[in-house]
Amino acid sequence: MATNKKGKGLKVYISADMEGIGGVVNWDETGKEGLGDYDRARKLMVGEVNAAIEGALAAGATEVLVNDSHGSMHNIIIEDLNPAARLISGSPKPMSMMEGLDDSFDAVFLVGYHARATTPGVLNHTYTGSLLEYRVNGKVFGETGMNAATAGEHSVPVVLVTGDSTVCAEARALLGDIQTAAVKEHVGRYAANNLHPEKARGLIREAAQRALKGLGKVKPFKVRRPVRVELKFNSTALADGACLMPGVERVDDLTAAWEGPDYVAAVRAARAMISLAGRS
Ligand SMILES: [Zn+2]
Repeated sequence: MATNKKGKGLKVYISADMEGIGGVVNWDETGKEGLGDYDRARKLMVGEVNAAIEGALAAGATEVLVNDSHGSMHNIIIEDLNPAARLISGSPKPMSMMEGLDDSFDAVFLVGYHARATTPGVLNHTYTGSLLEYRVNGKVFGETGMNAATAGEHSVPVVLVTGDSTVCAEARALLGDIQTAAVKEHVGRYAANNLHPEKARGLIREAAQRALKGLGKVKPFKVRRPVRVELKFNSTALADGACLMPGVERVDDLTAAWEGPDYVAAVRAARAMISLAGRS
């Protein structure tokens, strides 16, 4: 059984998104409540989250906190969740996809994640449909990078990413030799070659166990300070909106930038800019 540096049972945080769940390939499945496709996708989502929890428990986790991180953030049906875990449900939340994480955790899993905007992944996007790029100190991040950097501020490593083949490659390129579980292969933005849910869950369970057993090998993902965040929107109107925030610099027609002391401040600024930008 893996333990932390104090010899205690591990405390694991799971941020769960939906676009990277096996079998999910279009927006009807990720957000139209009342439609059969969405109801099925919610069950697929909690199935993969439970697999990650089971792997964590088998490797020595004694506490697991799940944060529902997709859309309106109340997708996971709590009575279907493994009873060993707690669930943060609903929105808005101050730290959004990473709400509830603090320095007391030993490891982060990102489950059901998807590729960043404009790269060849199933349902690719970055946080909102209106962002082409989210750049931190000049490097383009997807949601994997965004949230791994928040975890890094708390000195907690992301040790497992699950989703399609593209996000798994994105995660390894950014975070190094972490565990990944590809539950579907990218065919197009709205098409995938999927594993059966039972196979996907088995893959995640095993990867979660391996991730905690190898915990000491993965360093937290830290962003250098000060932090410059640049948002490239898909419309000049959105960049106009983002630039209403005091302290924001217009970089070019589509891009607005903000610089601040640390990454958590940068995330808050970026979310404020995205809110001010509105929708095209
Ligand atoms: Zn999502």
